[in-house]
Amino acid sequence: MSSSLPFQLARRAQRIQPSIIREILNLAARPNVISLAGGLPSPDAFPLEKVREATNHVLRQTPREALQYASTEGFAPLREWVAQDLAAQGLRIGAGDVLITSGSQQGLDLVGKVLLDPGSVVAVESPTYVGALQAFNPYEADYLSIANDDEGPLPDALAQAGGARFLYLVPNFQNPTGRTIGAARREQLTAQARRMGLPLVEDNPYGDLWFDAPAPASLASHWPEGSVYLGSFSKVLAPGLRLGYVVAPPSLMPKLVQAKQAADLHTPIFNQQVVYQVVRDGFLAEHVPLVRERYRGHRDAMQAALLRHMPQGCRWSVPAGGMFFWLALPEGIDAMAMLAHAVELGVAYVPGFAFFADRSRHNLLRLSFVTAPPAQIDRGIELLAQALDTAPGWPTTRQGALQ
Ligand code: PMP
Repeated sequence: MSSSLPFQLARRAQRIQPSIIREILNLAARPNVISLAGGLPSPDAFPLEKVREATNHVLRQTPREALQYASTEGFAPLREWVAQDLAAQGLRIGAGDVLITSGSQQGLDLVGKVLLDPGSVVAVESPTYVGALQAFNPYEADYLSIANDDEGPLPDALAQAGGARFLYLVPNFQNPTGRTIGAARREQLTAQARRMGLPLVEDNPYGDLWFDAPAPASLASHWPEGSVYLGSFSKVLAPGLRLGYVVAPPSLMPKLVQAKQAADLHTPIFNQQVVYQVVRDGFLAEHVPLVRERYRGHRDAMQAALLRHMPQGCRWSVPAGGMFFWLALPEGIDAMAMLAHAVELGVAYVPGFAFFADRSRHNLLRLSFVTAPPAQIDRGIELLAQALDTAPGWPTTRQGALQ
């Protein structure tokens, strides 16, 4: 009998790698570690009573439908609700333009499945959402990182992306940088993409989590025929419900629906009915401002802690929404190499290199401000500063800088 295993992995399986964030979350789950790593919404913000009531309502009113197989496109009233809600993003769409997905993460997978061949190029921001790279990797994509400044990708740099299958963007309070693309830049980018015939995949899970002013209208609203827009209930309601949606033009929608059918037949109809029951009467208009207020408090606590504890030579900007600070350490310090020591001291974060398609930068890290309570945030940042103090490569001038 042969001792070798009978399975031969597909080529694409070799491109499926463990998510560094999941691995770090395991580390961060150790007792006594303050996790500034995972982008987990604060469980204190989940509307428990409202979800309980909605669940009871569904079980009382439509139990058999809620437990039966259902349509791939999604629960019709929820699709209608999403279509109307997106008018605030400048999107003029109907329920037929909306596909309900199992989180927006599934939307990314379906986009990859339908649009990418082995060797296809995806143009991405630099840095970009690591979960999107994970979703596109099995389709054997290659990446082209588009140069950017503080306002987002540079429209002129898009010129290199001729032939790419699409440009993937997180325009609002981006994961990982917290940066938002301004209104003028959005227009320039969409005008350039349109000229080039380069489709846009706009991923917007954080847009509603603004602290000062709503984000500008979506990029997709400038070029609906050339754009796919992804949204999610994870950050405004609860991620465990696994509910997201894709808006796509009629030229693409049937293929996305067929790809989803093959993947999971449909998103759990029970969850869709519960969420519809939660949102149908305008609940989010009361709830989301409370989430914003809570997160703004966390953001302020982290900013105060960074100012208090971080030595000179570290740089960051204050995010105007979302869930993340993006911290630049002095060049020469490797955030990945420093992580084990930081976790030993009692704080976890996500090293930044994972967010670069070309893994080219090592001195950056992502800090989530929403999961840990404000009192722990200060202690976490203090521990991070301690880890930095003993990091290999720290500038020898640090004693002076620390005073
Ligand atoms: N896109 C971005 C930019 C994200 O940060 C996340 C969550 N971390 C997702 C998509 C996936 O979210 P979900 O599947 O929960 O909707």
